[in-house]
Amino acid sequence: MPAASPSSALPRHARVVVIGGGVIGCSVAYHLAHLGWTDTVLLERDKITSGTTWHAAGLMVAFGSTSETSTELRKYTRDLYGRLEAETGQATGLLLNGFIELASDDDRLEEYRRVSAFNRHCGVDVHEISPREVKELFPLAKIDDVRAGFYVKEDGRVNPVDVTMALAIGAKKRGARVIEDTPVLEVLTEGSKARRKVRGVRTPHGDIACDVIVNCTGMWARQLGADLGITIPNQAAEHYYLITERIPELSPHWPVIEDPGCHGYYREEGGGLMIGLFEPVCAPWKIDGIPSDFSFGEIQPDWDRMGPYLERAMSRVPISEKVGVKKFFCGPESFTPDLKPIVGEAPEVRNYFVCAGLNSIGILTGGGLGRVMAHWITTGQPDVDVTGMHIDRLHRYQTNPDYRRTRTVESLGLVYQCHYPFRSMTTARDCKRSPLHDRLASQRACFKDVSGWEGADWYAPVGVKPQVGALGWDRPHFWPHWEAEHRAVREGVVVMDMSFMAKLEVQGRDAGRLLDRLSANAVNEKDGVVTYTQWLNERGTLEADLTVTRLDEERFLVVASDTAHRHVETRLRRAIEDDGGHAFVTDVTSGLVQINVQGPRSRPLLQSITSADVSNEAFAFRAAREIDIGFARALCLRITYLGELGYELYVPTEQAVHVYDRLVAAGASHGLVHAGLKALASCRMEKGYRDYGHDIDNTDSVLEAGLGFAVALDKPGGFVGRDAVLAQKARGPLQKRLVQVLLTDPEPLLFHAEVVWRNGVRVGYVRAASYGFTLGGAVGLAMIEADRPIDQAWLDAGTWEVEIGNRRAPARASLRPLYDPSNARIRL
Ligand SMILES: Cc1cc2nc3c(=O)[nH]c(=O)nc-3n(C[C@H](O)[C@H](O)[C@H](O)COP(=O)(O)OP(=O)(O)OC[C@H]3O[C@@H](n4cnc5c(N)ncnc54)[C@H](O)[C@@H]3O)c2cc1C
Repeated sequence: MPAASPSSALPRHARVVVIGGGVIGCSVAYHLAHLGWTDTVLLERDKITSGTTWHAAGLMVAFGSTSETSTELRKYTRDLYGRLEAETGQATGLLLNGFIELASDDDRLEEYRRVSAFNRHCGVDVHEISPREVKELFPLAKIDDVRAGFYVKEDGRVNPVDVTMALAIGAKKRGARVIEDTPVLEVLTEGSKARRKVRGVRTPHGDIACDVIVNCTGMWARQLGADLGITIPNQAAEHYYLITERIPELSPHWPVIEDPGCHGYYREEGGGLMIGLFEPVCAPWKIDGIPSDFSFGEIQPDWDRMGPYLERAMSRVPISEKVGVKKFFCGPESFTPDLKPIVGEAPEVRNYFVCAGLNSIGILTGGGLGRVMAHWITTGQPDVDVTGMHIDRLHRYQTNPDYRRTRTVESLGLVYQCHYPFRSMTTARDCKRSPLHDRLASQRACFKDVSGWEGADWYAPVGVKPQVGALGWDRPHFWPHWEAEHRAVREGVVVMDMSFMAKLEVQGRDAGRLLDRLSANAVNEKDGVVTYTQWLNERGTLEADLTVTRLDEERFLVVASDTAHRHVETRLRRAIEDDGGHAFVTDVTSGLVQINVQGPRSRPLLQSITSADVSNEAFAFRAAREIDIGFARALCLRITYLGELGYELYVPTEQAVHVYDRLVAAGASHGLVHAGLKALASCRMEKGYRDYGHDIDNTDSVLEAGLGFAVALDKPGGFVGRDAVLAQKARGPLQKRLVQVLLTDPEPLLFHAEVVWRNGVRVGYVRAASYGFTLGGAVGLAMIEADRPIDQAWLDAGTWEVEIGNRRAPARASLRPLYDPSNARIRL
């Protein structure tokens, strides 16, 4: 046992206290120690691994994700576990006998082919194999309905307890202290509410003062965070595996098999077969709170509920139906609202880091997550794209008991479902509605989940039901309606409710100076001007992508996307705190709706309902001013995210319906069409407009993202990240750039993570995509890397293809948007 007991005196001070001795806490401590932060104490309530880690099945699988970050974490973890024994002397039980994902229906075959292509690009050696080859590798598997297997020779399994012990030993060897039987009762903070930061932890054996804490308490993380109002909405659920009696025919050298279609995974365990389950409808566990004394605990299995799933899972390896059951195990694992981990510094308290909510892949990503956390804590920045897993994407209401009870069922169920494009979460819906919701519903909107809001995705014509319908990889059933909305944007006028956008009002004598310092563009020049800008960090990589509107000298409106809401707000509040200047932030998201009126005919429509002059001369592109509409006042911004002449109206919530009604009534004679988020996506993608967290992220520099045009390098006072931008410019032409790719064949579709080839060589992948109805094919934004400068001449000289599943489609690549590259249409 590597840990010290609490009787050996608790240190009074440590640089970092890691709370929780599961695989995650031990990995964080290990990596901090490796980076030289050896003044680290890990406190474990009971014994190392006593929470969830001790009973994990230990699958080590690099295959399966279309996230670059997740794939990197998986590969790193596998490599790390491979070298831990030599470093620590502690065996890890790593057995890399291979892994096979089975596709037993057409949709999964398509999904895994797409995932395979992406994973190969990320360095995972995965091959599609025939059912016969599956049988050769795992002779006890039934293969009559198997379409193909996806085989990774280097994957396999590990012993979760041993690997966690090895990480703890590795941390201790470098000077970290690991102390068991010491629960953290409270995290201590200092400073007023707005400036709170960590100052220590309280335990039954005394306090430890520290600079940083890392909450790695697994399924207890929400409860520990709640004491300080920190939003960590993970929730435990029952999670099962069965181990059969000995099966002499089974070899421990066979690969692990996973068959989502049968809800199961399979590997040898102690001479018998382990069958792990991910059921489509699960049971959350202990909504009210995880008991503080639950250690090495098991949950009484629910045979009745699990029986049908188990039967189906066993049918994949029929011999398992004939031998006895040695153990049917149920233990808790915690799941998150979107099946992504909860990682990073909490917005509510400085130096309070969290790494929890591992959604059943804590062992196979734990090494990598520990590395990312340690890098983040020691340098202040993560070195991978964290936009999808950052703790600040989550909202307070998501910790509600009803929310967790409901959403967890969907999250766990999603693990083994086919991951179709266009899928939206279906549970815990209807909890955030724009004031226009009922109006849009009566216009036959089909809604989807947009950060918890009901967002109109597309509108059904009369006679068509506004429903999601069957999911698949081909053109969705709503294709013609989507196309009609897209064309209305390009040729007529549309109304679009985007009230879910994050809206922050910033006021004060120093508000302009502070916003200008945060923004790479010049945002503090003239009243009544809206400016598109990025916020950077000191490394010059992206933190936010938004607009800043100067309403007057001391009043600004910041508008960012829904997913960036708390990230932007936290960054802004902290910048103000650090500066000490006279500026105040108010979150006005709920107080203002955003109604978009967009398209070449938007001007005559708007003019017909306001006395304000909205001609190009009087109301130029980027102008912002209050206008009257009916009995209401609306802030009107002439700006677009669709690539056309257009206006965004910000209307007080209580006047939203009134303004909307006026607009729609007048719209009848202007051919006004209701358009949804599908049309937004396809129009913005044709125009190459970026979406933070989708096609650009915290690892990209503003220049690589192609946003140099929005950087005011010479503005007085500079801005955060300016030196890094200048340094990158000085290094010469870029070898990494975001480019637009357009398929020249109108048939194939792009969604995300398709690999891009130039002259038969992989050069990048599509980060986000849609369909360009005007351009005539699928269109996406891809980050491309080369060993030479990337310019348009190099793009034009290449033969471009995009890999979709196991075929390649010809494409064009362009640095400038292929739709309206001169911006003529937005300046009409
Ligand atoms: C049946 C099953 C099978 C699984 N199979 C796999 C698999 O094959 N591959 C895979 O990658 N993952 C698997 N998992 C998931 C994996 O086990 C978890 O993701 C992982 O163990 C989570 O690690 P953790 O460190 O976050 O949590 P934990 O292991 O629960 O660690 C948290 C620790 O914090 C301690 N703690 C809590 N509160 C305090 C406090 N106040 N003060 C101090 N300490 C505290 C707890 O005692 C606990 O030891 C499986 C899970 C289950 C249930």
